[in-house]
Amino acid sequence: MKKILFTILSFMLFSTTAIKAQQDEKDDRIRVIAIFAHPDDGDAKMGGTAAMLAEMGYAVKFVSITNGDAGHHEEGGGMLAKRRREEAAEAGRRLGIDEYKVLDNHDGELLPELHIRQQVIREIRTWNADIVLGLRPNDYHPDHRYAGVLVQDAAYMVVVPNVTPDTPPLKKNPVFLFMEDRFQKPNPFSHDIVIGIDETFEKKVDAFDAHESQVYEWLPWVSGNLDKVPDDPSKRKDFLRNGFIGNQKISEAKRQGLVKWYGTEKANSFKYAESFEICEYGHQPTDEEIRKLFPMLVKE
Ligand SMILES: [Zn+2]
Repeated sequence: MKKILFTILSFMLFSTTAIKAQQDEKDDRIRVIAIFAHPDDGDAKMGGTAAMLAEMGYAVKFVSITNGDAGHHEEGGGMLAKRRREEAAEAGRRLGIDEYKVLDNHDGELLPELHIRQQVIREIRTWNADIVLGLRPNDYHPDHRYAGVLVQDAAYMVVVPNVTPDTPPLKKNPVFLFMEDRFQKPNPFSHDIVIGIDETFEKKVDAFDAHESQVYEWLPWVSGNLDKVPDDPSKRKDFLRNGFIGNQKISEAKRQGLVKWYGTEKANSFKYAESFEICEYGHQPTDEEIRKLFPMLVKE
């Protein structure tokens, strides 16, 4: 009897120590969560940065608020959602991030409703996020707009204990950043933090390549160039490199952002970059804090 009790006690002690170690490890890492509308938005807007942060040991999670079940011309519903969830998981593996979660809300029908705000609050809290990335609420796609509103609506509430009390509140408000878009009204995107991603660009291409239903089927179909998709799988990544990921030119405003963080010479060497705008909600980081959060921003 004594022996059994001892075994149970040592097991409990061991498990507690193991959990404690896990938490410590968890606490040491800078924790990043990107929340967007569709499985592939995060890859498009910050795939290179996410891969770089993951390489640096950051805890990185992607969350798609909708399941993508409207994003196809021949498929739809639960089967498409299942296919896209699998594609997202594979894209997450290729980026090297910790998790790519797809919530089960319908695609094309997203509204900034309270129960979805609560889902977003829970995601940010359980990830214990230091940095939260979202979309601006002036995007062309209603799902993108409302995904942006949902993240902004959660920005203060994540620290309020009586809101969504089933999940403990954060002790401090994270930094909230917007991922880049091209929309000009009511105000153009501000390139506050610009990260050169040449070294992880191929990982971004690989992640995109995992979203087959989108990059080789739905998106070419909806933009009328399905006939341009190569049949030969070995040529498909070139289609991405020369297409909508590779041909995004660095604008003058974006280049100026690179110059601020990297200095002129290095800034001019980058072919690919991803930009982030600091949201007025949440913690307002100083330049020094930004360099700590994104240590790849080194001036030369
Ligand atoms: Zn989208």
